[in-house]
Amino acid sequence: MASRVLILGAGFGGLELATLLSERFGEDAGVTLIDRSDAFTFGYAKLDVMFGRTTREAVRLPYAEVVKPGVRVLRETVTAIDAQARRVETDAGTHEADVLVIALGADYDVAATPGLAEAGHEFYSVDGAAALRDVLPAFPGGHVVIGVCGAPFKCPPAPSECALLVHDVLVREGVRERSQITLMMPLPSPVPPSPSASAVILEEFAARGIDFQGNRRITALDPAARTVLLKDGDPVPFDLFLGVPRHRAPEVVLASGITEDGYVPVDPGTLETRIPGVYAIGDVATAGVPKAGVFAEGAAKVVAARLIAERTGGPMPPPNDGRGSCWIEFGTGRVARVDIDFLSGPEKTGTLHGPSAELVAEKEHFGSSRTARWFGRTSG
Ligand SMILES: Cc1cc2nc3c(=O)[nH]c(=O)nc-3n(C[C@H](O)[C@H](O)[C@H](O)COP(=O)(O)OP(=O)(O)OC[C@H]3O[C@@H](n4cnc5c(N)ncnc54)[C@H](O)[C@@H]3O)c2cc1C
Repeated sequence: MASRVLILGAGFGGLELATLLSERFGEDAGVTLIDRSDAFTFGYAKLDVMFGRTTREAVRLPYAEVVKPGVRVLRETVTAIDAQARRVETDAGTHEADVLVIALGADYDVAATPGLAEAGHEFYSVDGAAALRDVLPAFPGGHVVIGVCGAPFKCPPAPSECALLVHDVLVREGVRERSQITLMMPLPSPVPPSPSASAVILEEFAARGIDFQGNRRITALDPAARTVLLKDGDPVPFDLFLGVPRHRAPEVVLASGITEDGYVPVDPGTLETRIPGVYAIGDVATAGVPKAGVFAEGAAKVVAARLIAERTGGPMPPPNDGRGSCWIEFGTGRVARVDIDFLSGPEKTGTLHGPSAELVAEKEHFGSSRTARWFGRTSG
């Protein structure tokens, strides 16, 4: 009968798991939830900040508002993980657990792309997005390159959304006609598991004169020449480079010795690592699903159901089905939804709905429902 559940990381996965265990066991949930940050920000809110539709302060959800029976939320930085012993060191002390859940997300390795920090702007962190807020409206026109520096990366549609929203800003500022927009990524199409979503995105790009270059491997930026260096082509000149940095598991996870190819391998059906009592959920894991919040949340649901079954003696839940919906913003008040199914059938599928004005409300509900559920807020 496991009673002490230690969850590392209060992102999509950690927050959902803590919530489910609290709902089921109340004061007896026995959950400790650790995060180094004092607040959570939805991934998609970074684009809202970057394009000046809101401020970073307005989209911060403080962890102080996560008040749930049986859940202790600690602001500490995890400094070492002994998975075999289910023991974790933080900057504040040592924690031991019966069940250890690693939900530390994926970190950015800006240095892995030489020149990116000096000559480009990454837009995948809150800091990076906030810095771009003033850069975009002041851009005098020229070649904007949106470049994905490695795969896998979080939220595969986000760079395409960025390209469409950059177009809108340049039109608004009256500099679109003297500008070019190029999106380059190592994937062959904007959203490979969904040919229909990729086709619609490419149509929207064509209508706006946005150049999509798939299968491009960016090796570096040359700050002096202001060019993008590619493994497989000539240097591409840019005036503004908006980058998605290479991703990897946080350093503390890599140092724990439980990663393979940069992430924690798990059983895709159960999210268990090879070590008994140790799970990994969300972006930190290799679980056969895209790196997105909905899949971190789906993984949390499976782990919660397993822990509840173990504690109550009930039947084990079915394996993770790898299903989830992602919303894609097309600018000018239109949103599409892709329903992804990666694990339930023989093939990975991604079915597109929209884009339409109606789906804007659905996307808003995605954020507001989680804000209410995890942070107890009824709005915002
Ligand atoms: C621009 C952009 C748009 C996106 N849009 C969407 C979208 O529309 N829909 C969607 O589903 N997903 C979207 N995503 C992806 C989504 O944000 C992530 O996939 C999701 O947050 C992953 O959840 P997680 O629980 O695995 O990790 P995270 O949410 O990243 O949480 C990990 C937590 O671990 C903490 N942490 C890390 N290291 C330490 C440490 N050493 N000690 C203590 N704490 C630590 C971090 O502070 C963080 O809070 C988007 C991402 C970006 C960048």
